[in-house]
Formats: sequence, structure tokens, C-alpha cells
Amino acid sequence: MKTKVAYKLDITEDAKTICDKYWLRIKNNSKNPFIYSCKEIGDEFGLTYREITRIAEDNAYLTILDCRCVNCSTVKICCNRTEFISSYLDSWECESCYLKAFYRRQQDSRRDGNERALQQQLIKENAFINQLIQFRQTQLYSVPSLDNINTVDHYLLVAVLICLGTDNLRSTISLSDNLDTQLSPSYSLDTKILDRLMRKNLLLVNIENSYDYVHANEDCLLQFDLFKMTFDFAYSPDQLQKLIIDSKYDSSKKRLIHNFEYKECCQDIQLEECVSYLTYCSKNNNLAPIIDAKMASLLNTCLLNYSVSEIYYMIWEGVERASSYCNKPNIDKMRASNSIYGNIQKMYEKIDNQLIENKKYSRDDTHPKSVLTRTFFDEIHGIEDCGFRHTVDDLLKQLQPHKNISTIYYPRLL
Ligand SMILES: [Zn+2]
Repeated sequence: MKTKVAYKLDITEDAKTICDKYWLRIKNNSKNPFIYSCKEIGDEFGLTYREITRIAEDNAYLTILDCRCVNCSTVKICCNRTEFISSYLDSWECESCYLKAFYRRQQDSRRDGNERALQQQLIKENAFINQLIQFRQTQLYSVPSLDNINTVDHYLLVAVLICLGTDNLRSTISLSDNLDTQLSPSYSLDTKILDRLMRKNLLLVNIENSYDYVHANEDCLLQFDLFKMTFDFAYSPDQLQKLIIDSKYDSSKKRLIHNFEYKECCQDIQLEECVSYLTYCSKNNNLAPIIDAKMASLLNTCLLNYSVSEIYYMIWEGVERASSYCNKPNIDKMRASNSIYGNIQKMYEKIDNQLIENKKYSRDDTHPKSVLTRTFFDEIHGIEDCGFRHTVDDLLKQLQPHKNISTIYYPRLL
């Protein structure tokens, strides 16, 4: 690979030395090519590694002389190490050609249409496209380096890769096109995850497939239809493979468990399992309870001491009772639906006071294990469907020495 460092005109001697050291590399080592870490350079100049990165980004860039855009022959430029390592050197297309090709295809598809009728729509679409281009460019500039990805984000990205990644590991399919195992127990959690990874710049908006699914609110802020959008991964396929392999190491799993956000994530997953089962049972009985903060708070209280499998039983009973209530004279569906909250609460209190026997339900085929449940529970704790059968607190206690949760077999009740 032939490269050359280019400097800003009024660069100081110190900054020049820093930039040279920043870009100094060992030949033929694509995995870890840099001779000095930013920390080592920083120690020499009494600066932090972040300051070194900023000085290098602001004062110089690296041109890769033997990597040119397949269309316009523009030489590839890297502003920082992350960009350098993430580069796809074979058949690289510059951002400007990527956009030109996109516009060309867009115009072709419109050539046959009635220009006048489309004009108004075009102006609106172009405004979104321009905003989207700006958004993507901001994203490209802020992709975290591989070593700086937050641990929870790392595992979320792995789940998205497994669930929605295309075969070449370059982009995702949309949630609406995914007919296999779901990413998480609910669509609302699915979109929450995609939104998070997009805001952290680990998933880049794919302009060509997404401009139809973007709207602007009154303040002209972009609103994304995350259910239909697709994304490009911010990393190369090799780097993504490495992230998948890294997620299997015990040291990575330990880091995840000790991250304060891990518990929160697990609680979110379990709550969505319960909400999704409640919606399903209610629909089956032609009922529609309001699932708001109050209902979520009740289910969260149940989840403190009971597993999802036990709460399935409370939900099932609660909905069955509402359904019988509905058959009584003068009771309409709305009143019956509203009684579900109270029924679940009564079930919980009776079980908690040992007035009735606690039962554990099995998963049924309508609620299979999601990719996220497998990634965050099964693979981390090494217990089959432990996110369904145990409380989060019990699983975290298991990590203390000499305490083990026995794996119990639950007979199928449904
Ligand atoms: Zn080009």
C-alpha cells in the first residue's frame, strides 16, 4: 500500500511530528498496523490520547495513493485511524460517486412520470435527501473506534448482525422484511435498539433505501421509520467478524455483566416478553387492555420476584377471568379489558402471600425466543432460556461464588 501524509499549510513543528508518528505504520500488518499508540505519543508530549487524535485529525490526513474510486479515480483520504482501518480497499467508491449514482437511478425511475405532477413531491423529497446526506456525513465522522465501543452496544450490534445482517455483512435488511426469528420480544424494543445503534453511529443510514421512510416534524427534525429502514454497518466485514468472535470470550461476557446498563437491558427484555404475551392473550379473547406506564409498572413489580414463566401464568389467568367477566350481562368489552390490570394484580398478591399455588408456564410457539434473549441471557449465563425461567436478580446472584441456580424442567402447561 502506498500512502502519503498531507499537512495543513500553517502546521507547527510539534504538530507535524505528532502527525508523522500518528500515521507511522508497519508494512503488511493490516490488523494492527500502527507503530505508536496514541497514548505513547501523548506521553512524549504531555498530552492525552484524545488530544493526540484531535491534533492528527485537525492538521493532516493520509492519502492512500493506490486506492482510487472505481468511478472517478479520486484518491482515498483518511482523516483518522478508524477510517483507515475500516476502509474497503477493493472496489472502493467515494461518497460523491455514491450520491451521484443514487441521484441518477432516482432520475431514471422518474423519467417516465409526469414531471409537473411530481415536481411538488420532488422538492419535498430532495429536502429530506439533503438532510439525510448531512446526517450520514455527521455519522461517518463520528464512528467510534473498535476498541471504544460501549460493551452493551457491542452485544446489541452482534444481535442485529445475526438477526438482520445481509450475507456480505455490509448492511441490514429492514425489520419489516425479517421473517425469521425476531430481534427482540417486541417491535417497540426492536426499533429502540436500532435507534440507539444509529445514534451511536454504529449503524449508518442507507440513503437510497431510506429516504422514503424519513419525515420531518414541525421543527424540521428528521423522524425515521425504523421499521422499514435499512442501514449500512459502520465497520468492515472483517471487523464485524472480530466483534462476533470477541463477544464469545468469557472476559467480554464478564465486562458486559458488570456494565451498569446490562441489568437495565435484561429488565427491558423481560418486560417486553410479558407485554407481548399479554397483548397476545388479550387479542385471542377479543379484549384490548390499555398497556401504559401503570401496566408496565405492575409487570415490573412482578418481575422483581417472579420469572417471565411465572408471570405468563398470572397474565393467562388474568385475561381468562376478564373474558368470563365479559360474558356477564351489561359488561362490555372495554370494561372487561380494563379489569385485566386488577386481575393480574390480585393473582400476584395471592401468589406472593402463598394463598394460591404458583405455576410456571412454558414458552409456546407463538412466542419463540428472540435473538436478543439468546444473546443477553442464554449465551452470557450458559443456561437454556434462563431469561424466561429466572429473575434478573437471581441470574446476577449466580455470579457470586458457590451459588448456582439449578436448571429445573418446567412441564408444558399451555
Ligand atoms: Zn468517485
